[in-house]
Amino acid sequence: MSSIDASPLFRQLAYVDGAWVEADDGRRLAVEDPATGQCIGSVPDMGAAETRRAVQAADAAWGAWRRRSARERGGLLRRWFELIVAQAAELARLMTAEQGKPLAEARGEVLYAASFVEWFAEEAKRAGGEVVPSPAADRRLLNVRQPVGVCAMITPWNFPAAMITRKVAPALAAGCTVVVKPAEQTPFTALALAVLAEQAGMPAGVLNVVTGDPVAIGGELTANPTVRKLSFTGSTEVGRLLMAQSAPTVKKLSLELGGNAPFIVFDDADLDAAVEGALACKYRNAGQTCVCANRLLVQAGIHDRFVERLSGALARFKVGRGSEEGVTIGPLIDAAAVAKVDALLADALAKGAKVVAGGGHHALGGNFYQPTVLTGAQAGMRVAREEIFGPVAPVFRFDSEEEAIRMANDTEFGLAAYFYTRDVGRVFRVAEELEYGMVGVNTGILSNEVSPFGGIKQSGLGREGSSHGIDEYLELKAIHLAGL
Ligand code: ADP
Repeated sequence: MSSIDASPLFRQLAYVDGAWVEADDGRRLAVEDPATGQCIGSVPDMGAAETRRAVQAADAAWGAWRRRSARERGGLLRRWFELIVAQAAELARLMTAEQGKPLAEARGEVLYAASFVEWFAEEAKRAGGEVVPSPAADRRLLNVRQPVGVCAMITPWNFPAAMITRKVAPALAAGCTVVVKPAEQTPFTALALAVLAEQAGMPAGVLNVVTGDPVAIGGELTANPTVRKLSFTGSTEVGRLLMAQSAPTVKKLSLELGGNAPFIVFDDADLDAAVEGALACKYRNAGQTCVCANRLLVQAGIHDRFVERLSGALARFKVGRGSEEGVTIGPLIDAAAVAKVDALLADALAKGAKVVAGGGHHALGGNFYQPTVLTGAQAGMRVAREEIFGPVAPVFRFDSEEEAIRMANDTEFGLAAYFYTRDVGRVFRVAEELEYGMVGVNTGILSNEVSPFGGIKQSGLGREGSSHGIDEYLELKAIHLAGL
């Protein structure tokens, strides 16, 4: 028995066409607590056949759903939002059990996840069209916006709730129906959200959640011509694969892929603010976010003071089980994640980087990692090119503004970038030069429901959240009315 067994939101079945179901052959997939490695439950190990039925259910539900008024769809989303907020503590407990993040962070994510549902409940009513001035007197031209259709969503384990609501809420608001495949590490938060959607009165087939084999489910979701759109958040590698798999049926795509965020500290920065920003940006979720600072670029004049302050501040973190009081850094998600961080760290050290704080596995063992700071990071190291996804902060030194911009943009990624300066001219120069979808100036945190989230270059396609997020789930149709 784990502590989540008694939770009213804990479901070990998938949700298809308004029913809680097993895999056809009854096979199941175990889910582990990353803090202990213990099995906390299991979910149906579904494949292509079950996914096809989920797509059929979503297609069957689509007609009635899109014909409901936007106000009705918004009202249902509003009820879902209220239930999520009311159950925030319960959802956070489930999330911490399967994902490992500290309870306070899990609760923060639940409220962040809920904010997308609230936002798009409101946006549903604003997805209007246009009347275009006509070039001919006997014509009227109208542009209407209509839902794309059945949408597939494949989501990662690092934000088990928010990555789902950020996609599902705008899709449902727009009048689409959805099939969600959550990450195999974190299905219980997704299923709990489905429990609450059901309680909110979501009609059968509008929201489906399938669990199991990513390759088989992803294969069906991309090959099936009924699926008109795929929204994916995860690694660039899998994103490329899904993009290729979607080519034969020319699906619309939203891709939120990897990042390699530079966090630049100029000599004129407010040192306290820069250190606080780096701590929040780098070590949140044990460094496992796609917008986490991946490279700390620090100007020569402030370098040593910044490194000393940042390293000293690590003492405030408490590494441990996310469910334990006072813990601020949980475990990494699994042994593979630990091995990846180990390899990047070893590569950096072999090429001349120095550990100034932390430096490897935590004494707790398992998937626990020490918050770490490295100096002497260089362009030739893997940490300069690859997403670290762990609590390791490599510090690179630079001299001039031009050099910082060049280093920051020297990557195929373009998701988030951050910089600290008090010079207004520099704020505009650097913000405009950075080749990124999101830029934080004097802040290390930039996610909220009102601002567009997404990347350029190989970090992805499309934007989530904000007044633009619903566009990803709407098609523009031109109606030409002649003979007036
Ligand atoms: P990470 O490395 O952070 O786990 P992934 O890109 O592997 O990121 O995983 C993100 C999501 O993509 C998860 O839901 C995972 O199950 C899914 N996924 C992984 N491989 C495939 C695949 N070949 N086809 C479809 N989905 C996949």
